[in-house]
Amino acid sequence: MHNAMVNGRDAVNLVAIMTRAYIGIGSNLQQPIQQVQQAIAAMSQLPSTRLLSCSRLYRSAPMGPQDQPDYINAVAEIDTTLTPLELLDALHVIERTQGRVRDGSRWGPRTLDLDILLFGAECINFPQLTIPHPGLHERNFVLYPLQEIAPALVIPGQGELATLVANCPASGLEPIDDI
Ligand code: ATP
Ligand code: CA
Ligand code: CA
Repeated sequence: MHNAMVNGRDAVNLVAIMTRAYIGIGSNLQQPIQQVQQAIAAMSQLPSTRLLSCSRLYRSAPMGPQDQPDYINAVAEIDTTLTPLELLDALHVIERTQGRVRDGSRWGPRTLDLDILLFGAECINFPQLTIPHPGLHERNFVLYPLQEIAPALVIPGQGELATLVANCPASGLEPIDDI
């Protein structure tokens, strides 16, 4: 199409594709419950994105180094027209805004961690982005909250969410009712 057409009355409608995505949220520093709630509020303000629902908050035992506080976790469901890399960048901005410092240590304590668990049915293998998230299928603090908001999901390459949950013990994981 000629450029001049785009702003004229014959311009095509540029329809952006909306994708349903799921975001894993985690925090274990500086008032983790409030950090998670603030992150959910921030995601509801992302451009070209709608926050659809969010799981309950869960308390979970830390993964990796054990000499750190328990985590608060949740999963959010969004619709977005951002690309996966745009969404990753936007989530990193929210992490930084809430004081996330990356010191290179793996699975260390953090004020906020936002992982893209799923992006529609897409499988992505970029250097900086893997979708489905590689830990999704084996982490109870991801699977249980995800099942709460999307019980019928099928995880690309892994199968039914319900089966993954059934095979993943809930040890160290408890929903928080006292908020
Ligand atoms: P894990 O990914 O095992 O949960 P982590 O969340 O602690 O560990 P981070 O230090 O937060 O890891 O992230 C390291 C890098 O992982 C990020 O800079 C990002 O580029 C990359 N990454 C790859 N796939 C994803 C994804 N699906 N969601 C978020 N980050 C991802
Ligand atoms: Ca993570
Ligand atoms: Ca992360």
